[in-house]
Amino acid sequence: MHILVTNDDGINHPGLLALAQAMRALGEVTVLAPDRNWSASGHVKTMHRPLRARETKLADGTPAMTTDGAPSDCVALAILGLVKKKIDLVVSGINPHANLGHDVTYSGTVTAAMEASIAGIPGVAFSLETLHENGGKDDFAPAGRIAQQVAVQVIEHGLPENTVLNVNIPYLQDDEFKGFRVTRQGLRIYNDELVQRADPHGTPYYWIGGEPPSGVAEEDTDIGSILDGYISITPLQLDLTARAFMRELRSWEWEKAS
Ligand code: MN
Repeated sequence: MHILVTNDDGINHPGLLALAQAMRALGEVTVLAPDRNWSASGHVKTMHRPLRARETKLADGTPAMTTDGAPSDCVALAILGLVKKKIDLVVSGINPHANLGHDVTYSGTVTAAMEASIAGIPGVAFSLETLHENGGKDDFAPAGRIAQQVAVQVIEHGLPENTVLNVNIPYLQDDEFKGFRVTRQGLRIYNDELVQRADPHGTPYYWIGGEPPSGVAEEDTDIGSILDGYISITPLQLDLTARAFMRELRSWEWEKAS
């Protein structure tokens, strides 16, 4: 079993280290992760500039590789031959902050898993619901142990084609988790606000600001699950076709549209 570990927060993030350490119990681990934070970068394929890769070490002294590409670039580079040995499983994370509902369309963590799936390799994304009062000093060890349990299941069962697992872990200690719940995507509520300021030349610039997103906490969703203390396992498919709408869409007056 050869497991590729990547993330979207950068090679030095403690969530990546926790995930790499957790995966070592299951097989050989290769770490290839971005050299900077790519959070909320979506699914990227870098095509118009070269990508550089170099060897480095994680904080525990183990060898790793880093590139100036996005998380999905890291996965593509590895699978296309930068990593010589065949990869059996790709895991991404552990992201600080949950990736819930519509977040998955922004998430570099999730799109790294999707890139694996496109190449026919099982991909799993792990995110930890981070508490703002932790001030960034999160303990990723319990989430690492959960990631190990999930990876064991994926190794045993495999995943269907074009399907990834999006795993969200509540911020709890080992004995506080209530269990695992298979969920659907919930409804995120974004509280984005446009913040406009002026630079020293008087030219306006913009931030997309506002409060962190909230969400509708229905029990069978990712959002409701982590609020209830359960680890949320959402199967995501790369086929985004809105099948329920196809019939009505066909009934539009397409013959007049030309
Ligand atoms: Mn991130």
